[in-house]
Amino acid sequence: MDISEDSLRYAHDILLSLNVETCGFLEYNTAIKQYIIVVDTFGKTGECTHSSYKRVIFHTHPYSSKFYPSTADIFKVLKHSRIQTSVIFSSLGIWEITLPGKMQITDKETEYIESLNTRLYKTTNRGREYSKEAINYYISKLMKIPHLYVQFKLW
Ligand SMILES: [Zn+2]
Repeated sequence: MDISEDSLRYAHDILLSLNVETCGFLEYNTAIKQYIIVVDTFGKTGECTHSSYKRVIFHTHPYSSKFYPSTADIFKVLKHSRIQTSVIFSSLGIWEITLPGKMQITDKETEYIESLNTRLYKTTNRGREYSKEAINYYISKLMKIPHLYVQFKLW
């Protein structure tokens, strides 16, 4: 996803420095041919909630939160046909989780995703330490789910 420099700087310098999450959308700007941030809501004490869903949504994981997606973040993309991509601006970098349409999530898949998140939590000192190997393992295992595409880029 090609996000404008201005939007990336805004997410990194302003939104991530807040104590609460920010929720919003990424809208394609035809003039600059890049995506730009449109802020929707802020979390009151922590997590934010989108007022509606669009094709590309984003939220932040500020410095006080984990640098990787929660299981709820992943389920959201899988469950909602309106959401194609969910972008997470985290303290370490930018996550993109994409699934066109939606899928039925079985208990088996729920357990599978939860176990991957638990593993990443453990292999990154409770989500506090960067590990390229742990992240790559996490992404490759998530992408075993058909049509699910996950990408992570460091800032
Ligand atoms: Zn999240």
